[in-house]
Amino acid sequence: MELNYGAEHDAFRAQVRDFVCTHWKHGSDTTLFRQKAIAQGYLYRGIPKQYGGSEQPSDPIKARIIAEEFAAAKAPAEIRGNGVQMLVPTLLERGAEWQKERFIAKTLSGEYRWAQGFSEPGSGSDLASLRTRGELREGQWVINGQKVWTSYARDCQYMFALIRTEAQAPKHHGISYLLLDLNQPGIDIRPMKQINGGDDFNEVFFTDAVTPEDWIVGARGEGWSVSKSLLKHERNMLGGIDRSEALFESLLGLARRTEKGGMTAILDPWVRDRLAALKAELEAQRCSSYLQMSRELSGQGGGLLQMMNKLVQSNYAAAVAKVANAILEDENLISPIGNPRPGNERWVNQYMNSLAAAIAGGTSNIQRNIIAERGLGLPREGHQE
Ligand SMILES: Cc1cc2nc3c(=O)[nH]c(=O)nc-3n(C[C@H](O)[C@H](O)[C@H](O)COP(=O)(O)OP(=O)(O)OC[C@H]3O[C@@H](n4cnc5c(N)ncnc54)[C@H](O)[C@@H]3O)c2cc1C
Repeated sequence: MELNYGAEHDAFRAQVRDFVCTHWKHGSDTTLFRQKAIAQGYLYRGIPKQYGGSEQPSDPIKARIIAEEFAAAKAPAEIRGNGVQMLVPTLLERGAEWQKERFIAKTLSGEYRWAQGFSEPGSGSDLASLRTRGELREGQWVINGQKVWTSYARDCQYMFALIRTEAQAPKHHGISYLLLDLNQPGIDIRPMKQINGGDDFNEVFFTDAVTPEDWIVGARGEGWSVSKSLLKHERNMLGGIDRSEALFESLLGLARRTEKGGMTAILDPWVRDRLAALKAELEAQRCSSYLQMSRELSGQGGGLLQMMNKLVQSNYAAAVAKVANAILEDENLISPIGNPRPGNERWVNQYMNSLAAAIAGGTSNIQRNIIAERGLGLPREGHQE
């Protein structure tokens, strides 16, 4: 196996590094820097120029190099979140021309923020059972029902939502994918108090909320297939190797600066053993991400590997948090109601987030089911021999 990037890509890395060194200093204007990076072809590479992207030929290795160099310099990379990472690719694949023109550029620039209105009480893993309904009346959809776990809805102007519009159709064929303006009297957004004290999640209630007839992505009743292409993008967003790398680096930093049993934690044999195991696992994840990259380069698509990478990354986050807990010897780190010692708060969040990562974007159990059934060919769930 050849794991070098090669001369062409090494030269490209030097160009990117030079660009970042020249144009980014801590405290510089992030919007201006992003504009320059787009003009240079470094950000939003897969997005046509007419919608605000830099329209570069697909090259996952270059994309990876850019991500690495921007991260190393702590320079602003592409904006993250539902809008850029989930909605924009979906609009590019399935959206009407006017929708692309109206929404993509302002989403890329961060002007428009989007909430994801999928989950409902009783419809999470079994998403296709969702009941929030939309009826077409006089040129607009009238929506009634409820969504839940809607992250950051109060900070968003818009929502992309799965709504049951075809009451008589079989459950997977009765759903449409609608775009909604959240700023209207028919929508009530209520924050939910979280175990870690935050309130990022919301319940969203619809009482005769409205959206224009043509704010639909794909045709009526096709929302399920539109959402499937979107969930692929969500898993890409959640399973990136850069998250694991950042987690390992912060754990390493913690081990280097924390006293444990009269010595720096990194000298403790147990800690060293755990760090070595986590580093080995990180390298395995890196190889797996290279494999995903090679498949994408050869046009095969990431397939189940994407799902496996997301699963592995969720487990990794929890494993890192547990070692941090052992280094800090602070019982309260994994107790949601305890008070961690001052300075340890971020590790509480890290632990809690690692649990959330195993649920968001499809739970780990569901990922395992799909990998087992589609990847390993095991019998389908509930199937009797
Ligand atoms: C951090 C975070 C952010 C989120 N943000 C959003 C958002 O912005 N918008 C949105 O719409 N949703 C969001 N969600 C919701 C998320 O998509 C759902 O929580 C998830 O799909 C699981 O659904 P559920 O919570 O209803 O659990 P359930 O589906 O009720 O599952 C409960 C448990 O049963 C297990 N289980 C269920 N079915 C099976 C099965 N067939 N086989 C084996 N085990 C099974 C699950 O793995 C889980 O452990 C977010 C969740 C989290 C944690």
